[in-house]
Amino acid sequence: MQRDSLSRRSVLSLAGLSLASAGVATGTQTTQNTQPEPGLADDENVTRESFQIMDGTEKETTVYVTDAETDGPTVFVIGGVHGNETAGYIAAEEIAKWTIDAGTLVTLPRADVVAIDRGTRVDDNGVDLNRQFPEGSEPQTELAQAIWDLVVDLDPAVVVDLHESRGIYAGDPVDGVGQAIFHAAREPERTTADSAVEYVNDNYIDISERAFQTGYFSGPSSEPTGLLVHKAARELESEAYLVETLSTENELEKRVTWHSAVVERLVEDELFPDEEPNNGHEPKEPIEDEPDEPAEPPVDEDEGESDGDGDGDDSDGEDGETDDEIPADHTEPVAEIRSDPSSAIETTLEPEQTITLDATCSEAPDGELVSYEWSIKNDGTFNESGRMVDVTVSASGDHRVLLRVTDDSGASDTAEVTLTAT
Ligand SMILES: [Zn+2]
Repeated sequence: MQRDSLSRRSVLSLAGLSLASAGVATGTQTTQNTQPEPGLADDENVTRESFQIMDGTEKETTVYVTDAETDGPTVFVIGGVHGNETAGYIAAEEIAKWTIDAGTLVTLPRADVVAIDRGTRVDDNGVDLNRQFPEGSEPQTELAQAIWDLVVDLDPAVVVDLHESRGIYAGDPVDGVGQAIFHAAREPERTTADSAVEYVNDNYIDISERAFQTGYFSGPSSEPTGLLVHKAARELESEAYLVETLSTENELEKRVTWHSAVVERLVEDELFPDEEPNNGHEPKEPIEDEPDEPAEPPVDEDEGESDGDGDGDDSDGEDGETDDEIPADHTEPVAEIRSDPSSAIETTLEPEQTITLDATCSEAPDGELVSYEWSIKNDGTFNESGRMVDVTVSASGDHRVLLRVTDDSGASDTAEVTLTAT
């Protein structure tokens, strides 16, 4: 599907228009959270811009546009449609910083910032954003309309929506939809998804039960309805994919890598037509304690239709990835959190109780740790640093805390604990 110069122009004019109307200075910029990766700025043959949608509202959020010098199709990647599906929006933030070889990459990492701030699937009105895109009629909320207007304007060849689920997909969405790529039952989606799954399973999945699978979108009249990818696939004829990782039992960093590697392969023909994409993922973390068994071949769930949008769950906060240019034989640091009192992580706390979390037991086998960053407010940013941090659990319920340690080579690891207050 070639929509080269037309959609390219529309992206740029859209970006300029929105920036101007928002009163924001135009120019190149990347995500606010992290520095552009070293080395990318020099030889990158790309132009970067960003603009806001829902300007001036509590749902204001940023769209990033990366435009390669070489013409090609437009790809749209969206994350954060569900606010508790953390790996999806972190991966989308990472993808927003990619250097591409051709075409245009448009990324909306944090689609529903209210839901993300709350750490919940829905926003503060209980709205599930991924049910607001009915087929054959207009989107049902202002945010859904703004996103759909963007998508229509881009007319993307490919749309990828990044989610997480609590269960593993086994042909029936009732059990969960994790570790799966959902798409319309047609070509080229089937071949593209199958080959993405095969590549990622071979190179990134170290436990065969967690191999990615593929599944088909449900029909327009079967529940659930109102999914963005369904509408894009059927009304715009975009190649649309919904990617789900399993949020439980897998550490965040792995889930982010899986999302990112899946997207890289889904959009390879569009954005990396000549050379293998290489966006700095490290294939298969060094695994010393497990045999390097090949992942099982993907099972193609051709029977029946699946919805492809499960109840994701995960309410941790975080922020972008960093590392690049790390030697292949580098042993990754290991993040570890202990608490004082030492039982605080396992027991139920009183509201207003303060505990100290301690990261000094974290290790850097191949160097030394140079930063200890904490996300303690469940707001999606690592806004505290230090080897120890005090956390006051103010509200009842679960309170997730993330630690990210980085060594002097730039390699990092993340650990998380959940504090529970009565
Ligand atoms: Zn979801």
